[in-house]
Parts: sequence; C-alpha cells; structure tokens
Amino acid sequence: MSEQTQGQKLSNLIQLSPRTEVDSMPEYKAPLRDIKFVMTELLNSEQHYANLEGAEDATPDMVDAIIGEGAKFCEQVLSPLNQVGDKEGCTWSEDGVKTPTGFKEAYQQYVEGGWPSMTADPNYGGQGLPHSLGLVMSEMVGTANWSFGMYPGLSHGATNTIEEHGTEEQKQTYLTKLISGEWTGTMCLTEPHCGSDLGTLRTKAEPNADGTYAITGTKIFISAGEHDMAENIVHIVLARLPGAPEGTKGISLFIVPKCLPNEDGSAGERNAVSCGSIEHKMGIHGNATCVMNFDGAKGWLIGPENKGLNCMFTFMNTARIGTAIQGLGAAELGFQGSLAYAKERLAMRSLSGPKNPEGIADPIIVHPDVRRMLLTQKAVAEGARALIYLTAQQADVVHSGKTEEERKAADEALGFLTPIAKAFLTEIGYEAANLGMQVFGGHGFISEWGMEQNVRDARIGMIYEGTTGIQALDLLGRKVLMTQGESLKGFTKQVHLFCKENAEDEQLKEFIEPLAAMNKEWGELTTKIGMSAMKNREEVGAASVDYLMYSGYAVFAYLWARMAKVALDKMVEGTTEEMFYNAKIQTARFYFKRMLPRAKGHAESMLAGADSLMDMPEEAFAI
Ligand SMILES: Cc1cc2nc3c(=O)[nH]c(=O)nc-3n(C[C@H](O)[C@H](O)[C@H](O)COP(=O)(O)OP(=O)(O)OC[C@H]3O[C@@H](n4cnc5c(N)ncnc54)[C@H](O)[C@@H]3O)c2cc1C
Repeated sequence: MSEQTQGQKLSNLIQLSPRTEVDSMPEYKAPLRDIKFVMTELLNSEQHYANLEGAEDATPDMVDAIIGEGAKFCEQVLSPLNQVGDKEGCTWSEDGVKTPTGFKEAYQQYVEGGWPSMTADPNYGGQGLPHSLGLVMSEMVGTANWSFGMYPGLSHGATNTIEEHGTEEQKQTYLTKLISGEWTGTMCLTEPHCGSDLGTLRTKAEPNADGTYAITGTKIFISAGEHDMAENIVHIVLARLPGAPEGTKGISLFIVPKCLPNEDGSAGERNAVSCGSIEHKMGIHGNATCVMNFDGAKGWLIGPENKGLNCMFTFMNTARIGTAIQGLGAAELGFQGSLAYAKERLAMRSLSGPKNPEGIADPIIVHPDVRRMLLTQKAVAEGARALIYLTAQQADVVHSGKTEEERKAADEALGFLTPIAKAFLTEIGYEAANLGMQVFGGHGFISEWGMEQNVRDARIGMIYEGTTGIQALDLLGRKVLMTQGESLKGFTKQVHLFCKENAEDEQLKEFIEPLAAMNKEWGELTTKIGMSAMKNREEVGAASVDYLMYSGYAVFAYLWARMAKVALDKMVEGTTEEMFYNAKIQTARFYFKRMLPRAKGHAESMLAGADSLMDMPEEAFAI
C-alpha cells in the first residue's frame, strides 16, 4: 500500500486524471463506536453476558480488549489483502490449490492470535467465550476481507457440528485440531444436480468392515474445499447409506478428512478425496470454490443414521448467520468508501447555493440524491449490525441460557430471525454495495477503487446457504404458518410491548406510531395468506419473498425505533457525543421516511395472489 492517505489518493485521482495506477482500495476501519453502541447501549451486553452460564470471562474490559485487538488485525493484516485476493484468485500448483499472496501468512497470524478457539468448548482447547462476541470478530474479518473470512468461517461451522453431534473420539481427533486452527473445515452438501433440494443427493456411504464408511460421489461449489493454509481439511459430508429411505429422511452425515489422522493425532496419509477443479466465478476470488471428488474415501458417521440433515442444520444455521454478516459487511465497506469519496469529489453546485465557494464546485455530498445513497448504506449497515447482534444474543441463550424455558424461547426467536437475517440482509446489503459504487460515478465501475469488487463479492450472499427464495419458504411456510403464527407472535409481542411503553413519548411518536401500525398489519397479512393458502398451497410460494422482505423492513423498523430511543435518551441526559447520537436519530428518521414505505409495496404484492404467476401455461413462456 502506498503511504498516501485516502484523502490524498482521492485528490490525486480527481486532479490528475480519471484513471491512475494509485492503489485506491478503501482501507477498512472497524466501526468500533457503532459496535459498542449496538452491543452495550442497545442490547445491554454486560447484563446479557452476566445472565449466561459460563460467560464470566466476558467482562466489559475483556470484551473491549478482544474487539480492539481484532480490529487491528482486520485493518492492518486482512484489509490490505482484499484486493490482492480478488486480483490473484486461487490457483493450481504442483502442490495443490494455492491461495493468494499473503493469505497463508495471515491465516498463520490468525491462528497464533487464538481467534479460531474464541467461542469453542474449553474441554477441547476453546476459550468458551460467547458466540455473539465471536460474531463481532466475524463481522470485522468479513468486512475487511470476505474471501479470507470464509476459511475460518467454514471451520467454525464444522466445529459447532462436531461439538454438538460428534462422539468423544471424534471430538478428541478433529475438534481439537479445528479449534486450534491447525486444520480447517468444509461443508459438503451440493452436488451437480442438486443444491436447494438435498433430498435428491446421490453420494454413497458404504460400510467398511472396521466400522468406517467408504464415501463415493462428487460435491460441487465447496468453499475452502482445498487450499494451502492448513495441513489438513475436515470435510463434513452428506451421503446415503445402502437401502436408506428416499428423500431427506435417508441422508446421513460423515466426517471425511483430507489426510487420515495418525495414532498420535497428526495428519497422516492422503484419503481418497481430491479437488477436481477450482470454479471461475464472479467474486470472492480469494476463496477456493472446489469440485470435490470422493472415491471411496474413508469417512466416519456423525450422529444417528439417516438423521444427517438434522445434524447438518447445526452447520447450516451457523453458516446462515455467517452469510447474513456478508450483507452487513458489503453495506459497511461500500459506505466507508463512498462517504470518503462524496466528501472529496467536486461536481456542480448545491441547489440552494454554493457550499464550497472557494472551490470550482461543491463536494457531491451536498446533493440530495447522493445523501439518499449514503444514508441508505448507513441505515442498512447499522440496522444490519443491530439485527445480527440481536440474533447472536439468542444463539448465546440457546447455548448457555440458565433455564430450559429461556433456552426454548431463544431457540424459537433464533429460528424466526435466522431466515430474515440471512435473506433480507444479503438482499439489501447488495443494494447498498451497488449504491456505494453509484456514489463513485464512473470511477465506481473501475477496479482500483474496490467498489465493483464489493458488488461482485456481495452477489453470492443471496444464493449460497439457501437462496432468498428458499429462506422465504422457510420463514413463511415452516417457521410462521406451520406454528400457526406462534413464532411471529413471539416477536410481535415484544414490539407491541415496546410501543406500549413508549406510546406517550412525544419525541418518539414519529417512530412508534408507524411501528405499531405495521406490527398490527404484519399479523393481519399473515392471517390473510394463511387463509388463502388453505384453499391453494401455491399462495405460500407466491407470497413468500414479499413476506420475507416485509418482515425484514418490520424488524428494522423495531430496531431503528429502539436505536432512536437510546439516542434521544442520551441527548436528554446530556452527552459529549452529540454528533454521534444525533446521527442515529437522523438515520432512524431517514429509515422511517424513505425506506420503510417500501414495505407497503411488498404488502400489496404478497396479497396479489398466485394466479398472476401460475395462470400462464408453461408453453406460453415462449422465446
Ligand atoms: C461460490 C459458491 C460457494 C458455495 N459454497 C458451498 C459450500 O461450501 N458447500 C455446499 O454444499 N454448497 C455450496 N454452494 C452451493 C450453494 O449453496 C447452492 O448453489 C445454493 O444452495 C443453490 O442451489 P443450486 O445451485 O442447486 O440451485 P437450485 O436449487 O437449482 O435453484 C435454482 C433456482 O430455483 C429456485 N428454487 C429451487 N427450489 C425452489 C422452490 N421449491 N421454490 C422456489 N424456488 C426454488 C432457487 O431459489 C433458485 O433461484 C456454493 C455455491 C457457490 C456459487
């Protein structure tokens, strides 16, 4: 990286020429003030951690120190490698798949810093810190360099799966190595003919005489499937046993290591699993997306026979929240880059008269439309942070809540919020990344600035870990309608209480009134769809994505109203950080006035019925 500041780079670019060889990738700055706001002021993390079993180490000082150290690593080590990863991608070499320059060394530093063990079980070398704290680190890692973050992200999912479903022997052999970071993990679900519909998968698992299984089949699109950053890779693989029932009821889960473990626990001879090729793709070039061939590879069953998909849900749920972070990261990175640009780039005069009379023109941040783009990114990034941290707190309680009742309620809330976080945040995160590019005008389309990389990297978020369509079916079909609306009620009850408690607050009126109305409408819309679904089941599929987006805007409205309340209270109390809290209130106001109205369109569409989609005969889709 050059020694120039971002401002100097911008000035050079603007003054010298529209194209320059200056390395202008936005330098990620961890938004520590906002992270602290959401954790401590909005979600009262101190009290939350004190209520968890075994989270004694998560004291405020410790939490601050961990986040501060993590931020430095992400800003100084990972962020500079983001553009390198995009340009170089993963390549073949004689020794296998090679990750981009600097990734291997950065991973070594990540391991030496103890980051892989942060939230894992202390019985196997973990530090036992709360999952929500781990997610703050994941946010910073993922925003600084999403492609890099996927390697430890996948290991984290494998760790959770073995921790929850593995035998003691499997834990000693694999969990300890994943937790130390010496080995990494993957999730192997997708096959050439199936991704969303895992019920049709064909990979076979035949019993060997020694109690192990011979795994045969091809998995595609396997993230971090092969690389040079760790000595061994632990594949978590879905396959079918002989004579297993058809569909999802006949799937089992296996551990298949790249190298078979020796008696002493070290990585031994190569197993019969190999990488067939690396995919060429739109973005996340620094992460190896691999075709993996299993040719009678030795595997070990995890969990009960034919219950593999249930066990894999541990992995998938971890990965879904992980992917939600991608939406947050894309919005944050776009915002950081485009905000700096909008303050420096000069173009035309403000409609209400010059704001920079000494200069040849005003900075573009004076223009209402540029402000619309910046505020949308800010509202998305900060709203996403609030939603993800709230969801993560539910995961903490499911894992370490003190009573069965608490754990059960948190599990329900987590199930409800997960598809919303995954799909809504990746959809609007992608929109925000696109706006980041738009603020840069033509320069946004040029690689040096990093904005087009951000857009390309963010696009996959709406596809993997269950597409937006699949998440929407999960939310409306499984989570809401199949529970007769109970999971929705669990959430709307909280919103209702918040509205009731603050109904008399004049300052909050502009937020509480629309929120309360929407909360009521949310239930009514659900009932209407439920009724029409009883007559025609296609109605669920026809309404689902609009329903999910509506739900996302509703959850955001609740969180933005709560954030506005915290900020308004601080202003009344008196604060030295008036600018910060004022910005929160302004952003909440922007969200309610300019983003929330989109929900009305989704409400109208979701009630439009399935006929306008299904009446068209297939043959009529003629080209
Ligand atoms: C870069 C990358 C990394 C990946 N990493 C991994 C990984 O590590 N491990 C892994 O196992 N997989 C991975 N995947 C695979 C990914 O999870 C799947 O591609 C994804 O789940 C979609 O499956 P599919 O591609 O088979 O699409 P399909 O299932 O064929 O879906 C095609 C379209 O049909 C829609 N659709 C399908 N069924 C329905 C329905 N019932 N109702 C409404 N719409 C429907 C989908 O929403 C989608 O729009 C990765 C993919 C990519 C591109």
